[in-house]
Amino acid sequence: MTALSQSEPSLSASSESSTDALVQKAKRHLLQNYKQPPFVLARGQGARVWDTDGREYLDLIGGIATCALGHCHPDVVAAAKAQLDSLWHVSNVFYSQPQIDLAEQLTEWSGLSRAFFCNSGAEANEALLKLTRKVMKDRGTPERFEVISFDSSFHGRTLATVTATGQAKYQKGFEPLPAGFTHVPYGDLEAVRKAVGPATAAILVEPIQGEGGVRMAPLGFLAGLRALCDEHGLLLLVDEVQTGMGRTGKPFGFMHEGIVPDGISVAKALGNGLPIGAMLCKEALGASLTPGTHGSTFGGNPVAAAAANAVVRILRRPGFLEEVQEKGAYLLARARELQGRLPAGRIQAVRGQGLLVGVELDREVAPVIAQLRGEGLLVNAAGDRTLRFAPPFIVTVRELDEGLSILERVLAAN
Ligand SMILES: *Cc1c(COP(=O)(O)O)cnc(C)c1O
Repeated sequence: MTALSQSEPSLSASSESSTDALVQKAKRHLLQNYKQPPFVLARGQGARVWDTDGREYLDLIGGIATCALGHCHPDVVAAAKAQLDSLWHVSNVFYSQPQIDLAEQLTEWSGLSRAFFCNSGAEANEALLKLTRKVMKDRGTPERFEVISFDSSFHGRTLATVTATGQAKYQKGFEPLPAGFTHVPYGDLEAVRKAVGPATAAILVEPIQGEGGVRMAPLGFLAGLRALCDEHGLLLLVDEVQTGMGRTGKPFGFMHEGIVPDGISVAKALGNGLPIGAMLCKEALGASLTPGTHGSTFGGNPVAAAAANAVVRILRRPGFLEEVQEKGAYLLARARELQGRLPAGRIQAVRGQGLLVGVELDREVAPVIAQLRGEGLLVNAAGDRTLRFAPPFIVTVRELDEGLSILERVLAAN
């Protein structure tokens, strides 16, 4: 029996809620800007999800790195439910406690001083970009407005963030793009140094390029960027939308290099799947965004913020992120062993840190992803040839083994 047909009787006949009917309805009414496979997910628990036909999947992509504590984590569910029963929303014209508590938690945890809440990663980056422009105006250097970001980066889909994104495929058709963005090769400190000019205001960087294929910069890159920014009076903006909230085994990716950025963006795992994002910045910079200069109606919504508070409390428990490091190291090591067992070149590279792991193949990954799904494993593509694993942190070693053996079976047959 399907999950949907178990729900209360409604006007729609059961045939209308069958998977096929739902998929047809989706094709009729949803904007066709995504390419979803023809099944419908209905339920999730931990690292598992079930579709409307009752089929079970091991979910090692977790809502694209959002459901860090797994589906329906009891503490997060309880926090959101309690908030639903007390206060849903008041906008940012008024204070609400979940948002205040979350600001305290995130500033303590990140070492930054000020929190602005929004609803997504793109909005958090947009806030960093607007902060940069305002700070440069306030410093009396309005000619500095240009942001250097990196080839293969991903920063979001708004016009400004898609322009910061260093991938032409996301920009094509949306020209003219906003002014003030330039791109250089990722990990190449010399290229950055050469790109800095009188108009440069900031450098925007991901600690690991997630969407770009789980690409890592050489160790010392972020520290080098920090020094360069200090030398030239530039802001160092770190996009932690994917790498933040413990994903790499430290609270934020920049912490692997012992630096302090001027501002960071967070989103994906912050609400464990509820939409919430944040821009965190240093005290002196935050002072530039005075009342009225920036805002978001839904930003820091009490229900999303209550869920996020529960998430951060769990992530900050002693030993929790050490487990993320251990499981991540296990996944990396096992994927590398698999690389050695398969015909040479089938797996080109295994990259990652913590529970963000990319497995680059010698071919396009889209058909492989479909086969994995057929075998009950959900992962996704990061770039054309890289499979991305971003499992929930509560995944067990057994579940990782289960996912790897499905991967081995499918890759061996390819
Ligand atoms: C996902 C992502 C974004 C965009 O986040 P949205 O919530 O989709 O707007 C920005 N930067 C990075 C590094 C991301 O991984």
